Amino acid sequence: MRDQRSNVGAPSNGAQCKRCSRCRKTKPTTAFYRNPNSICKDCQNRASRFTNQIRRAAVAHLIATHQGEYRARMQAERAKRAAAEFGGGSDAA
Ligand SMILES: [Zn+2]
Repeated sequence: MRDQRSNVGAPSNGAQCKRCSRCRKTKPTTAFYRNPNSICKDCQNRASRFTNQIRRAAVAHLIATHQGEYRARMQAERAKRAAAEFGGGSDAA
């Protein structure tokens, strides 16, 4: 039920719109997250995807550069966690 008269998306009276500081498009406030609220969801999503790609590339590079350390660390962590998870000897401190 819609009993509130809607101004059919008229952009002129700027009802609930604001401008994205990144793409400079004016969009309804629903196209923005609360935080950060200066850039629109599209820009926010694109930015976080970009950041994830950067992070993944950096981690992959680190692993490739330090393979020995990486493997050793993996084994150490696995042993430690497996012991805590399954082994759980007599003395659980
Ligand atoms: Zn934007």
